[in-house]
Formats: sequence, structure tokens, C-alpha cells
Amino acid sequence: MAAPAQTGAGQISDRGAGTRPCAPIRSTCPYCGVGCGVRLDRDDTGALTVTGDPDHPANRGKLCSKGSALAETAGLQNRLLAPRVDGHDTDWDTALQTVAHRFERTIAEHGPDSVAFYASGQMLTEDYYLANKFMKGFVGTANIDTNSRLCMASTVAGHKRAFGTDTVPGTYEDLDEADLVVIVGSNLAWCHPILHQRVLAAKARRGTRTVVIDPRRTATCDGADLHLPLRIGSDVALFNGLLAAIYEGGALDAGYLAQVDGFDASLMSAMASDLGPTGLDPDLAASFFRLWIRTERVVTIFSQGVNQSSSGTDKVNAILNCHIATGRIGKPGMGPFSVTGQPNAMGGREVGGLSNTLACHLDIENPAHRTAVRDFWEAPRIPDAPGLKAVDMFRAVADGRIKALWIMHTNPAVTLPEADAVRDAIAACPFTVVSDITARTDTARLADVLLPASAWAEKDGTVTNSDRTISRQRSALPAPGDARPDWWHIAQVARKMGFATAFDYTEPAEIFREHAALSGIAGALGRDFDISELSDLTNRAYDEMTPTRWPIAAKRGGRFFADGRSFHDSGRMCMIPVRWRAPAARQAPRFPFRLNTGRVRDHWHTMTRTGLTPRLSAHLAEPFVEIHPDDATALQIAPDTLVELTAPKGHAVLRATITDAVQPGTLFAPMHWTAETAPTGRIDAVVAGATDPVSGQPESKASVCAARAFAAAWYGFAVSSRPMTPTSAYWAMAPSGAGWRAELAGRAASQDWEAEARALFDLPTAQAQVLTDPARGIARLAFREGGKLVAALFVSPQPVGVMRDYLAGLPDEDVLSGRAPLGRPDPGPTLCSCFGVGVNTILSAIESDGLMTVEAVGAALSAGTNCGSCRSEIATLLTSARVNEAAQ
Ligand code: SF4
Repeated sequence: MAAPAQTGAGQISDRGAGTRPCAPIRSTCPYCGVGCGVRLDRDDTGALTVTGDPDHPANRGKLCSKGSALAETAGLQNRLLAPRVDGHDTDWDTALQTVAHRFERTIAEHGPDSVAFYASGQMLTEDYYLANKFMKGFVGTANIDTNSRLCMASTVAGHKRAFGTDTVPGTYEDLDEADLVVIVGSNLAWCHPILHQRVLAAKARRGTRTVVIDPRRTATCDGADLHLPLRIGSDVALFNGLLAAIYEGGALDAGYLAQVDGFDASLMSAMASDLGPTGLDPDLAASFFRLWIRTERVVTIFSQGVNQSSSGTDKVNAILNCHIATGRIGKPGMGPFSVTGQPNAMGGREVGGLSNTLACHLDIENPAHRTAVRDFWEAPRIPDAPGLKAVDMFRAVADGRIKALWIMHTNPAVTLPEADAVRDAIAACPFTVVSDITARTDTARLADVLLPASAWAEKDGTVTNSDRTISRQRSALPAPGDARPDWWHIAQVARKMGFATAFDYTEPAEIFREHAALSGIAGALGRDFDISELSDLTNRAYDEMTPTRWPIAAKRGGRFFADGRSFHDSGRMCMIPVRWRAPAARQAPRFPFRLNTGRVRDHWHTMTRTGLTPRLSAHLAEPFVEIHPDDATALQIAPDTLVELTAPKGHAVLRATITDAVQPGTLFAPMHWTAETAPTGRIDAVVAGATDPVSGQPESKASVCAARAFAAAWYGFAVSSRPMTPTSAYWAMAPSGAGWRAELAGRAASQDWEAEARALFDLPTAQAQVLTDPARGIARLAFREGGKLVAALFVSPQPVGVMRDYLAGLPDEDVLSGRAPLGRPDPGPTLCSCFGVGVNTILSAIESDGLMTVEAVGAALSAGTNCGSCRSEIATLLTSARVNEAAQ
């Protein structure tokens, strides 16, 4: 039965006149790989409301905090509305002609491998298909790779080694039907919240046990039956231990193994392993092994903690080996399950968007496959070898081998490892094109040509989620200004380069039909990805297409590999013998910390959309680094001060969060902040460029670095009705309800704080109220225009202790105390972004009303009752409140 739809309260109305109301449109959330269905409603003022689609099989009406705030990100703030060449707005014809001409000239002078395309899991399948066709079929180079390389390339490689194809064996329904769900290297509660809620629902309904395997204690650990805090990078040792225990416990599936190659060698590897590298208590590991072995219906969910590693492919195969050895794969409630980070990472894999794949799961190195694709596309050329993978691609940009580069919907100057070097390489590249919805990204600022793209709510096409369900993304808003869809950008450039016939598309439905038809050829060549039944969809049928999982259910039942048949030439499954290897970067006295990176609950990638909405920024408004209390004490790092991280090729300054959620000697920092929002918070500047030798995926979770206290002479907190222009050594700025808020710090205190503040706020003449105590290094300044508070700055030699959420509202009161008037409680940092409920409010309700459960907190305060993304954190507050009470 369909659940009630989740509310997305936000609205936009800045397209105004000419925007007609529309009947509810069904589309797909553009953030994570869960692929939740959404309903878009637009009223006669042009305001858009986004709610969960009760009929979509991925979410049944639910949305997480990010999905619930989608409407707030669909406005025109920061939008790029016209093509730009060399920093000047121009017309489309000029821009397209410039791109086509520079690409043609570079290819003519230096060959097709001197150009490259860097794509994104944000692109729709139709856009991705065309980018791949353009580069591999018509430019004639395999130098097209994607930011999905940073996300799930190790899973692709692991799947191909085991199954002979890149196929996720199971479905989301398996999470409902499992008796044990093992979550490896994934903070599912924050990064795939709707799937996590699905697991918790199964736990409540049928008692599904859950095990979390993660070096960090994350929100996903709350309520789990076991948490295995293994050492960073030791997953292969753990799963080899599990395989050995499966053998010793007599849990092998002999019938299934009769169709498997590589069992003996894999078992020998496993038996030769020990658990030492995991650092786990042997009894804890043994409990996990027993639980796994005695539970037939087991799903192992894995994500970036597995993939983003210099041994990521081996980690994937270590997990797959255990499922293959027990035959627990492709059957209801059991199987390995890779969850993808991006909304269309799977669609990108299907069209062959990686530099080492072709299209429709065909292989670039297979002559028959190449011929089939070339003939189908009527392409003049097709490369016979893989192109450059992401990290190598930008190294080739740096050393001048790549001379023309097209980047679409991604921000590599921030997100690739050694990000400073990548930024410098893009800046030095002779010709860079960026297609994006905004010019305000670290990468777009470096482009020679900027092409304005349609945004999520304006685009038409399809995406594929983590369980192979293809969903429509439908346009609900007209594209503003000169913005155009990505497929159109590519087709227009291709036409101007002389490929008019092959790129003569007028709408995405045509491209989808062609993609589906090509998959039929792949199917005839024995590949798994065959959606050719969709190749004759009429435009109307494409428009009305409902979520469709491949293989088309009537044919295959929706799961793979239960019968033990693979897509290797032999038809047999493969177990891959793997051995634990330490992460590539070695800890040393100069760089003693191991750095783990990841996402936070309410932000997406480099925040070009989530960073627009105050309520998503309220949860965590600045970049931070988690450091263990023992390390903080040793380094004299106090709570909420700043920490400086240095690595061989980079540097960052972040707020200290002192917590035993991380292990001693390890650090965790989020990936979202950029030069636009916190210039020293670009954590990928610190991450080393080591990659997995098979998949080419960077090791974003096990770099090394040094940490020390940042020598701040002063800390500041500022609020303003307008964006600020900070110049201090450290700053981080975020939108707030009434404008903007910023955290600041510097190495030398100012002699004239009023002048500093006026420059920061650009308020040369506003009326100022100033309170300073130079002896104590304290300054407090409030600025008013027409009697109304428009900005305030609070400076202190220590981290500033003021009521931030109160001040961020720019209250019409005397604010120099930094606190709300007496009697008004401090809600504390926002925990529930849907209802704006703060930590202090929840803690005080727990204490005063004796609340014992998450549901009781919800009933009292509404917190956690809309999207549910904060429920794990409320559970943590309840637990800590109980612990405190017991200790009294
Ligand atoms: Fe979007 Fe959240 Fe669903 Fe992911 S879980 S698709 S971010 S609503």
C-alpha cells in the first residue's frame, strides 16, 4: 500500500509571469542513487512544490531532508543564463562555433587523444549516451570519463571480474526480505537515508538484524546490532576471515560452487589471511561471522568506504566471494548490493560513460563489440583501447597531453584528489569548456567557454537508480534565459564538427530509443543490459513511462545470478583470490594521521544546489574535522578551535569536532566545501592521488596528513542581510533565514574592527553600534539601516560563544550581548531541518518531559516526523541523555 507522501515545503516563484500552473508531474530526485520519485506541482504564481511520489517503488512517498528541500533550490539564484566566451556573454552560435572550431583544430594538430570529456553522474542517460557516442564514435578517442570514477568504479571492476558484467544482482525488495543486512563502508543513514529507513522498517517489522562495518561510529550505527570499527582499509582481511569461517562452519553451497571458477585459490587466500590488519576484537569478529553464517537471507550493502580505496576492487571481490561461496546471491532477501552515490551513476554505466567501457555493457577491447557499435552508430572511427581514467586524465591535462577539455556538470577543481593541482591544470589547459547551471563553481571560473545548462526541474530524460530501475525525469519548469539541455549542447557541437546526420536529434525520446535499440544488439552479443523492448516507444509512451527495472521483469524476475550462470565466456561465476594490502599512502612521523572523507546529511557534492537553502545549511554550516580526544589533547586542540591539516600536496583549515566516533590516529572531514563557501575547507586538496590499480578509483578514504592547532589570534561570527566579502585567513559562509552567516578567524587581530566590519559587509555609511574591549581582544558591532539591523560581527580571541541561530535571524533587538533576551531559550544547532528544531530544544524536552523514544520526541516537537533523516541523531541524544542520567 502506498505511504502518505512526504512534504517538501519549499517553493520558488522567481520565474513569475508566463509560468503556467501544471498538473502534478512525476519526476526523480537529482541527488543520491536511491532514485526517489517526486511529484512536482506548480501553481499559477509559478511556485513549485515538491513531494514524494507515493507510487514510486524506490521511496513510496518518502523523501529525505535533501529531497524535501528540492523546491527551495529550483530558483534562479546564481544561474548562468547565457553562453560566455572568455568571460563575455554571447549568443549560442558564437559559443558553439568556438567549441567546435577549437576541438577540430586541436584534433587536427594533435590527434583525437589530445581532447577529453569529463562527465558526471548528474547527467541524464540521454545526455550521457550522446557524450559517449560523440567522443568514442566521432571524435575517435576513449578519453571520456566521469566523476562516477570517484564513486563506484571499483564496484564496476569487481562485478566484471566476478560476473563477467557490471550488474547489481539484487533489488530494493531484498532489503525488505532480508534477515540480516550488513552495511559496509557506508553511512547509509545520511547518504542514502530512504534506504536506511527501509532497513529500519524491516528491522521493526520482521526483526532484521543489522551490522555496520565502518572505522567511524556514524549515525548508521544507532540501533545496529553490531558495529565493527575495523581499521581503515582492512575490509579484505575481514571478508577473507568470513570466507574462511564459512568454509570451516560448513556453510558452503556445493551445488552453486560446481559452477564457480576460482574457489580453491580464493579459499587458500582467505585461509592464509588473519584478522590482524582489522584491529578488531576477535570475539566481535567471530560474532559477526556466526551471525552471517547462520542467516541465509543476508544482504551486504556496500558503498564508498569499500570503493574509494587503492584496493577497492579487491574489497568488492572479497565481499562477492562470500556471497558466491554460499550461493546467497540473486535470491529474495540475499546478495551483495552496491549502492551508488549519484542519481545516474548506473545510467552512466549502462551507456558506457567510463573510459574503459563501450556502450550497453559492451567491451571496448572486444573487436566484435567495437564493430557492432561502430556499425550501429555509422561511426567513422572507434578507439580500440581504453582512454584515460579521471585521475590520469587530469594529470594529462597538467602535463599538456590533453589540450582541449569539456567538463559537464561536475566540479573537478574541488572533488578530485590533489585538487589544487587539478585546479591549476584546468587553469593552464589551452581550452576548457564547462557546461553547467551556474558560473559560480571553482571549475566554471576557469573555463574559456561556459555553456548554460538546463537545471534538474527543467530537464527531460531518464535516470537509473541503484537497483536498475529506470525512471523518467520530467521538466516542470521552462528553462530560463538561454539555458539548454546537455544533449542539445553535445548534438550542436557535433553537428558543427561535421556530424550532422548522426546527431540530428530533436528530443530526448529519440536518443532513448536509439540507446534501447543498441542494447538489443548488446543482448544479441550475450550481454545482460538489453532494454530493446523499449526501443519503439512512441513519444507519448516515453512521456508516460513508469519506473521500469531491467531486465524487464516479465522476462527475468528482476534479479541476476541465482542460477549460477554468469556473463563470462565460460558462463561460470568467478571467485577472485584477494589478499589484504595496506592503503597506498604510508603513515610516517611527518604525516601521522589517516584521513577519511565523506558526506554530511544535508549537503550534496559541492553545494551548488543544497548550499542555496538556509535550512539545509542549518544542520552543519561550516567544514569540520573529527579528531579523537586523545589526539586533540596531545596536539592541544581545544573544542571548536581550528585545525590545520597538511599533506604532501595540499593544505586545509577546518573546525575541530573532538569525538571518539573516530579512532585515534584517524580524522574525518566532509567533501562539500569549496572556494565559493570556505576556501580552506577544500578537503580534496589534502587527499593524495593514489588509485586502485584495476579500477582507477582514487583512495579518498585513506590519505595521510599532519594535524596541528591553527594559530588563530581571533575568531569571528558574522551575520548579514547580504553576502559578505571575507578576506580573513579562515572563513566559511552559508545562507541563513535572513541573509548570510559566516565563521571567521585570522592570524593577526585588527586595530580597527569597525573598518574591518564595514569592508566585510560593504556598509561604508550604515549606523554602527560598537562595543570593544581591546585588552581582552573582544569586539561586538551591529549595523543598522533605517533603524533595521542589517549586519553584526562578534570577535573574540577564543571561538565565539553566541546564539548563532538567533542572530542569523537578524532580530530587531539589541544584539550586542550575542544572546536572545532573558527568558528566551537557546534552541542550539539545528538538528531537524524540516521543522527547524535545535539540539538544546530536544535535550531539554527529553529531560523535562521524560521522553524515552524517537516517536515521543516527534510527538512533542515534530522533530523527525517529516523526512526522518534526523531520527538517528535524535536516538543518539536519547542514548546520551540516558547515559548522563545513569551517571548522576
Ligand atoms: Fe533524494 Fe534523499 Fe531519495 Fe536520495 S534518499 S534520492 S537524496 S530524496
